[in-house]
Amino acid sequence: MTRILILGGGFGGTYLLRSLRRKIAPSQITLVTRDDYFTFTPLLHEVATGGLAPATITEPLRDLNEDNRVGLARAEIRRIRLQDRVVETDQGEISYDCLAVALGSESEDHGTPGVAEHALILKSLSDAVRIKNHVLNQVQAAARATNPVEQQRLARVVVVGGGATGIELAAELADLYRHTLRGLYPELFRDTRFGPELVLLAKADELLSYLPPYFRTRSHTALTRMGVVVRLGVTVTAVGTQGVRLMGGEEIASGTVLWAAGVRPSRVEFQPAVPRSARGRVIVSPNLNLAEFPEVFVLGDMGTPAGLPVPELAQAATKEAEVVAGNILRHLARRPLRPFRYRSSGSLLSLGRWQAIAQIGPVHLRGPFAWWLWRTIYLSKLLTGRKRLAVALEWTVNLFRPRDTRIVNDNH
Ligand SMILES: Cc1cc2nc3c(=O)[nH]c(=O)nc-3n(C[C@H](O)[C@H](O)[C@H](O)COP(=O)(O)OP(=O)(O)OC[C@H]3O[C@@H](n4cnc5c(N)ncnc54)[C@H](O)[C@@H]3O)c2cc1C
Repeated sequence: MTRILILGGGFGGTYLLRSLRRKIAPSQITLVTRDDYFTFTPLLHEVATGGLAPATITEPLRDLNEDNRVGLARAEIRRIRLQDRVVETDQGEISYDCLAVALGSESEDHGTPGVAEHALILKSLSDAVRIKNHVLNQVQAAARATNPVEQQRLARVVVVGGGATGIELAAELADLYRHTLRGLYPELFRDTRFGPELVLLAKADELLSYLPPYFRTRSHTALTRMGVVVRLGVTVTAVGTQGVRLMGGEEIASGTVLWAAGVRPSRVEFQPAVPRSARGRVIVSPNLNLAEFPEVFVLGDMGTPAGLPVPELAQAATKEAEVVAGNILRHLARRPLRPFRYRSSGSLLSLGRWQAIAQIGPVHLRGPFAWWLWRTIYLSKLLTGRKRLAVALEWTVNLFRPRDTRIVNDNH
């Protein structure tokens, strides 16, 4: 029996599993990944700011395996030995006939000192819970502080990164501060219209420099209206216990530093080494497999075809998963493979409650309708009908109540 092994239970891996299951005997497929649940990353910023509960944006991988015929294994993947067709994990070795690697990416600190020790990142569910706990603890400490300078520092949040994650986080935080924390800690909001400062720092001279101009200007205006201080063209040179230092020596004191300044592909080792792009993504053929090892496919954030860079987006990973599923079958049947061509379905950016920007084809949208559209589209991308219903209900109920300010266990 041919053994098909999928590494990674994120967008690339789970969508591939779902697609393959319909085409091939599930007993031939094994999925190996770190957690036994799928995390819907586009909604992580809502968990980080108390808009959604952690369980709402995760789905047990078992729900994709109702008849229990796919092999599911939790393990930490260490190395892929291409010539032996073996994957090394902390639970032992697993061999394969055909392999799909979708191990995603990690946060990139660009060598900035102090990021690992003093900044918080948003890549996983635990990160989101950690951010929420930290912000709430700092605000509580600020409310108790007697020195006004220290009070300001504790409650101030610096978000580093002018991409979608940084902007969505800053917008949700502004909403959390103004609509929930203002009522709980009026003493912090007494002297200013917006309350404690929220600062967004971007290295580029524009926000979202990779998106159309419409997104850049609209997001900047929307954040400024919410009271977020947006500073462009600034480089953070160090993060410490008291805040961040910028190039030129300026320091911004803050109780929370959120690092959203980019990602780098998973560093899991291939043996022998495979060609990588300047950013470290595995270079695959247009058919999304390795030229030297055609039985190995790489998809999602971790890989990209040479010369045709595919964006590191969930929509790209899920589209690649469809093509890889077909190509695995073609490979097994010794038929010619099909090339992948990326076509964007559009861009969506949420900017806190009732605000979003969207571009679908030539149509630009903003405001509450774009926000509704953003939610509806993301709802349709959740893996199971049960989860779609749960999120729709929670979103509806949450429209009429403040955000959840419980400090919960990091292990959720
Ligand atoms: C906060 C945030 C918001 C985002 N918002 C959007 C959005 O709005 N729209 C959009 O299109 N994209 C968005 N993205 C990007 C999107 O999440 C990624 O492009 C997409 O997840 C890539 O899919 P993937 O399968 O390559 O990786 P992932 O979905 O990250 O999956 C990788 C999987 O591999 C597992 N894994 C990694 N290393 C190991 C290991 N060594 N051993 C075992 N398991 C391992 C991980 O646990 C994970 O399950 C967002 C990302 C973040 C972080």
